Amino acid sequence: MVLEKVLIVDPIDGEYTGDVEIKEGNIAKIKKKHCVPKSVLMPGFVDTHTHGYMGIDCLKATSSEFENWAEYVKKEGVTYLFPTTVSSSKIILQNVIENFLKANHPSLMQLHLEGPFINNEKAGAQNKEYITSFSLEKLPNLKGKVKIITAAPEIYNFEELATFAKAENIKISLGHSNGTYEHFRKAYEMGIDRITHFPNALRNFHHREIGPIGAVFLHNFYVELIVDNVHLSTNFVKMMYRVLGPERLILVTDSISPTGLKDGRYELGDLEITVRDGIAKTNEGVLAGSTLRFIDAVKNFKKITNCSLKELSMVSSYNALKNLGIKGGRIKEGFPAKFVLLDKDLNVIKTMV
Ligand code: FE
Repeated sequence: MVLEKVLIVDPIDGEYTGDVEIKEGNIAKIKKKHCVPKSVLMPGFVDTHTHGYMGIDCLKATSSEFENWAEYVKKEGVTYLFPTTVSSSKIILQNVIENFLKANHPSLMQLHLEGPFINNEKAGAQNKEYITSFSLEKLPNLKGKVKIITAAPEIYNFEELATFAKAENIKISLGHSNGTYEHFRKAYEMGIDRITHFPNALRNFHHREIGPIGAVFLHNFYVELIVDNVHLSTNFVKMMYRVLGPERLILVTDSISPTGLKDGRYELGDLEITVRDGIAKTNEGVLAGSTLRFIDAVKNFKKITNCSLKELSMVSSYNALKNLGIKGGRIKEGFPAKFVLLDKDLNVIKTMV
């Protein structure tokens, strides 16, 4: 298969026109040529933080629902999907892992466990009943199916969790934390370089205790951003782009099961939530994830920052994979043919996995 006359967007090589030949699931050959491109070819999007979609909830999904989920988000250009749990019991988490294990779709990567090893004081929409300090016995059998664990660095036994994760090639992402600058600095020195939905559910900035926001300015953390114009103001997104630069930003949806459905009452795990005007909240009025679609996160980010397409490919694909040590997120010979074809207004024409 050959894609002719496309604008190729690569996070390293930049933007140029040409033809792309695909063979056996890989990008076999790229022929650079001057032409008026018919469409834009970007690396397939990566969503490392998403709890559900179209009525499917990660905690309750059957294996075929995981597969349907991957098909749904493919229409929005997502080719690497990391379904994300919320704090729950060991039995329920084990069940999620078993169901995920049986699911089969080329976009399904591994799971992201958000909690339960987080801080009660920054629970957000996580069920406090399950939030707990870390011990190995509290973990389900991960069966190699977990890639990211969101945890708070100040919890009891965090270092043990960090050591375990390193040995298992699992990425710790700091989040739902009331930790101070010192907690984040120490974690960074232990090799932890990722923060979950920054700076939502984290301690605020103070000029005498600069907290995790200060830590992000002083150390090279990668940060997840929910660019839905609800979780973050547009000025905050502009500031992140200007100060951290596009190399350290990772777009995520944090979408929950009502995404793609009407306003109404739903569940996130076993918490009741209400969606009004597309904004999901718990009964206590706390934001409960989003109803953001990945393609809209991409469009919002472009509109807010006026970034280049090259930079857009970093924040929507390449950075997330690079941070996890996964080869991909490039339009380059020898890389997997996971990409999204878009029109000039960034509407998805076709996604390939
Ligand atoms: Fe969260």
